[in-house]
Amino acid sequence: MTSLGAILVAMGILALVVAWLLSRTTGVRAAAAVVASDVGQLKVETLRDPALRIRGRPDYLMRERGSDRIYPMEVKPTRESATLYESDALQLAAYMLLAEVRYGKAFAGYGIVRYRAAEFRVPLTAELRRRCITAAEGIRAARQAAAVHRSHEVRAKCWACGVRSACDESLT
Ligand code: SF4
Repeated sequence: MTSLGAILVAMGILALVVAWLLSRTTGVRAAAAVVASDVGQLKVETLRDPALRIRGRPDYLMRERGSDRIYPMEVKPTRESATLYESDALQLAAYMLLAEVRYGKAFAGYGIVRYRAAEFRVPLTAELRRRCITAAEGIRAARQAAAVHRSHEVRAKCWACGVRSACDESLT
């Protein structure tokens, strides 16, 4: 085999390995193709919506094969839950709003959150859209406020919090 042939064979094997790894880590099925990614594969795309004043990078932007519609996908491989966390629903909703602005009619109208053993297909309903916008406004208001108070009674959250040492409302 020539050296060029060996290189082509090696590249082919590498492509197969990458495809296999991608399918294992994301559960990405043959029905969709990765458009952009924030987890090391392909290009990273930051989506922005100046009107809503939000921006972000979903783990993956996927294109449905056949229809060419685009949807965001978030992957939480260590999350063990049979129900979708509200925080994950709101994060995905933000990415769906951004995908809608970026891709217009090509936005598929839904997004996907994948946990270790569960997958949730979430439509961007008017109600979810409203909850997401309300949450984003709340975060912005909190950033402007002189003092922000604890909004929960969950000790585990404080244990895992990066600013616990500077917080005078910590539960731990
Ligand atoms: S330590 Fe303070 S800032 Fe962190 S989660 Fe607890 S209350 Fe919130």
